[in-house]
Amino acid sequence: MTIPRIVLATRNAHKVEEFARILAAAGLVVELVAVSQFPDIPDVEETGATFAENASLKATTIANATGLPAVADDSGLSVDALNGMPGVLSARWSGRHGDDAANLQLVLGQLRDVPAERRGARFVCAAAFALPADAAGEQTSRVVEGEVFGSLTFEPRGSNGFGYDPIFVPTGAAQTTAELSPAQKDAISHRGQALRALVPIIRELVLQ
Ligand code: IMP
Repeated sequence: MTIPRIVLATRNAHKVEEFARILAAAGLVVELVAVSQFPDIPDVEETGATFAENASLKATTIANATGLPAVADDSGLSVDALNGMPGVLSARWSGRHGDDAANLQLVLGQLRDVPAERRGARFVCAAAFALPADAAGEQTSRVVEGEVFGSLTFEPRGSNGFGYDPIFVPTGAAQTTAELSPAQKDAISHRGQALRALVPIIRELVLQ
């Protein structure tokens, strides 16, 4: 049997690692190719208003550009005391895309006077899978979502994970997601839930 090749439509190295780990643990036997292996493909602008729109946009654009099925996610942190922000702006909250340390410090500063009982937050992940458009221009794509509820600490703790992990404590846990092992984070995380829900869909669309 030939093993299907699927492009992973993200340039975030931490996400590449999590995708590969979660899909392999879910028993999906595919060859994951990072989008960075296609140097001519431009970055996809995240112009959607929702995680689901952005995830679908990334997966369909990359599937059409590479001619391979593509999986993508769009994710972020939604903070109760910030009316759900930074949300889809999580990666560029401090103004510089992907500056994890500055993004985290900005959120901590904004929440400096917010007491523990009002520091609720959740991580959300929309995961999308798309096939390249067929000869008639028909596009097949699916999107699913996962989320994990928790609260924000006053100081960063832990060095695993990325982004806002050092300040996020999942409900019922004592540690931040940066203090959990990768397997512990995957078992409860927004990305773990969304990707596990996507596995049967990928199987149906490329492995029948
Ligand atoms: P995206 O590439 O637009 O999906 O950016 C997602 C951003 O949300 C990341 O840069 C992080 O700041 C944040 N984020 C998403 N998932 C996680 C996670 O699992 N842990 C910590 N931060 C996350």
